[in-house]
Amino acid sequence: MAGRNHLFIPGPTNLPDAVLNAMHRNMEDHRSPDFPALVQGILADLPGVFGSTAGTAVLFPASGSGIWEAALVNTLAPGARVLVARKGQFSVLWADAAQRLGYRVDTIDVEWGMPTPADQIGEALVRDVAHEIAAVLVVHNETATGVTSDIGAVRRAMDAARHPALLMVDGVSSVGSLECRMDAWGVDAFVTGSQKGLMLPPGLGVLCLSPKAVARVAACPTPRAYFDLRPVLGATTPGFSPYTPAISLLHGMRAALDLLKAEGTAATIARHARLGAATRAAVAAWGLSLCCRVPTAVSNTVTTVMVPDGADARAVIDFAYRRYNLSLGAGLARLAGRAFRIGHLGDLNDLALLAAIAGTEMALRDAGLAVTAGSGVAAAEESIRAALA
Ligand SMILES: *Cc1c(COP(=O)(O)O)cnc(C)c1O
Repeated sequence: MAGRNHLFIPGPTNLPDAVLNAMHRNMEDHRSPDFPALVQGILADLPGVFGSTAGTAVLFPASGSGIWEAALVNTLAPGARVLVARKGQFSVLWADAAQRLGYRVDTIDVEWGMPTPADQIGEALVRDVAHEIAAVLVVHNETATGVTSDIGAVRRAMDAARHPALLMVDGVSSVGSLECRMDAWGVDAFVTGSQKGLMLPPGLGVLCLSPKAVARVAACPTPRAYFDLRPVLGATTPGFSPYTPAISLLHGMRAALDLLKAEGTAATIARHARLGAATRAAVAAWGLSLCCRVPTAVSNTVTTVMVPDGADARAVIDFAYRRYNLSLGAGLARLAGRAFRIGHLGDLNDLALLAAIAGTEMALRDAGLAVTAGSGVAAAEESIRAALA
């Protein structure tokens, strides 16, 4: 098919030309005296993406799921208790990973489409008078449901409970796109991956640790091998890694961080806000509903759209791909067939989004949904124009 695939899944996301070009190079000697400078520059710039100046960033060749594990095994003792609010497939999977690693997982389950209930976390911590809960795990932007949680509110609930647990946050689909205030929110371990807001291929995981979390690493008794942070944090040459680094991805990361710096954090956040609002305007014009149940918690990186009873979201995704070369995200787990997702994060602009909305609108009609041709595009156009006026 001529022309590019329109990639509107919530990760992996589109690669900017500058990132592609930076990665198109021969391999090099990662033990050469020149190599650490590349990594040192990246590690110096990464905390800023999390909204941190006090944090320490580390990188692993891994997907985001690997960094979930790295955060846990470097800071928590074997069998430690953790508290997770499950509100979508990614929080379910993080809780599952913690359980399989032998941690005792307390869960708070909310309806999919709801944000993290900071009040219930606070109540659970107040009940934990012996301070057995060692960490609270929160997914900032639940990519399955298109819901962004208020991490500041979770921190306030933890402080009000006077509880010393670490606050661990999954920012895989928020970091680089949504406002992240690691220091202000008191996040101790902030997790992300390369293939979403950072506009890179999958394969590089990032963990940003607070000074409190860094202080836990050396004495942590949990067995760990590949994800052991001790040789990384204790390296005499910063930027040294005890394994072969993902050299191409590191060059891409340098370019991606330069792009984010050139746009500026406020402008990046505003662009994603505009893309998110335009997408939601289209959904409303189609007469469809969001999975997100709380208007103030809508995600500006991914929109999860419910289809009416009797319709199959898989048919919409299939028509979009086969007829229009448009990739939409599937409904995950219990949302399979009931929802589809439009990812609008990373290297995207307004007219690219309008193409995806046009394609989605056609696919909805192809799948038999009663949607008016042009209605979503018109609503999104007006939303964008109003935002830019
Ligand atoms: C994509 C995603 C993950 C998983 O990342 P992988 O790189 O696929 O392992 C974790 N959490 C959230 C919120 C995500 O969006």
